Amino acid sequence: MEKHIVLLPGDGIGPEVTKAAKNVLEAIADRYQHSFTFESHDIGGTAIDQHGTPLPDDTVKAAKKADAVFLGAVGGPKWDKLPGHLRPEKGLLGIRKQLGLFANLRPVKAFQQLLHASPLKEEVVKESDLLIVRELTGGLYFGQPSERRNDGKEVVDTLAYERREIERIVDQAFQSARVRKKRVTSVDKANVLESSRMWREVVEEKKAEYPDVTVEHMLVDAAAMKLVTNPAYFDVLVTENMFGDILSDEASVLTGSLGMLPSASLNEKGVGLYEPVHGSAPDIAGQDKANPLASILSVAMMLKHSFGMEEEAEQVETAVQEVLGEGYHTQDIHLFKGKQVSGSELAAKVVDQIRASDTTENIMRCYV
Ligand code: NAD
Repeated sequence: MEKHIVLLPGDGIGPEVTKAAKNVLEAIADRYQHSFTFESHDIGGTAIDQHGTPLPDDTVKAAKKADAVFLGAVGGPKWDKLPGHLRPEKGLLGIRKQLGLFANLRPVKAFQQLLHASPLKEEVVKESDLLIVRELTGGLYFGQPSERRNDGKEVVDTLAYERREIERIVDQAFQSARVRKKRVTSVDKANVLESSRMWREVVEEKKAEYPDVTVEHMLVDAAAMKLVTNPAYFDVLVTENMFGDILSDEASVLTGSLGMLPSASLNEKGVGLYEPVHGSAPDIAGQDKANPLASILSVAMMLKHSFGMEEEAEQVETAVQEVLGEGYHTQDIHLFKGKQVSGSELAAKVVDQIRASDTTENIMRCYV
């Protein structure tokens, strides 16, 4: 299969983890005789430095033509003092909006090999396997610019949704639940927010279309607590943009590190942007310390969701499991008897696993 992938490395550790993602894609292309071509573009702070804007037109044009997009991370202290419309994060929010990426899928699964790396008790973490479905192009992060203001005495952000925006993300959650454990928890703040009350109404209407899926409502504060006291309780959580952002960072403690959480952002045509959940980590940028596994697992999501390559996706996940099983990890993960390596070394171990699986199978084929 031929696929064209646009890479947006961005800032901080973004270029390091993007390189890891590309190496894994190349290993998969060789292993399965696919042809993947790549094109890199600027976004975020790097784009501000090079082009005076966090989201150059060329980046948007290339992303719109690609079969899939991979993004590293944006942001950093260098650009923190710029005015709001020029901040690196505007590049990220802009590309999501331009590509219509309304559905952000954030799977959180505790790897057996890392159970004792979590600050939570092993017995709490061990059965965790949940999917956060976060609305990505509306809500508090996309309030009307005309209503957003800060005159020094008063500050206003708005949280707005059209009913159809809630309907499509709720549909996505029900559909995701159908291929999982068939349970949806809709997370809101309906005791306070008008938007959450409409969210609940939509979920109640939609559930008739998915009689095979059970659904419940939970307030976001209760959900935040349950995520760390009984994470195994959850299957699919669906929620507003900012609630989803916060809950998924919280859920990263189940996996042992923020550097383990992948994500996919999809539009209505199934075109996707794939990125690690973490940010640009300026504190470790340029030191080869960044954990590449969130990015590598995001590649697995790309193979599955955008290219329909289930076996290839599984191969990437298996390679990650095997490398962790051998005890390799980066400095963000604390293992009793682990072998700490650099980010590039860890990525190379995953690539070696993928390529070795090829060799093993080829040898087997020779003997048959
Ligand atoms: P962050 O996710 O960058 O880092 C939080 C902590 O986790 C840091 O200690 C960092 O070293 C560690 N960490 C993150 N990713 C890691 C990895 N792969 N391996 C090892 N350790 C890792 O969040 P932050 O410090 O709050 O934000 C830094 C910058 O990133 C800010 O400018 C913020 O706006 C931006 N940001 C960008 C995105 C994105 O691009 N999607 C998301 C969140 C934050």
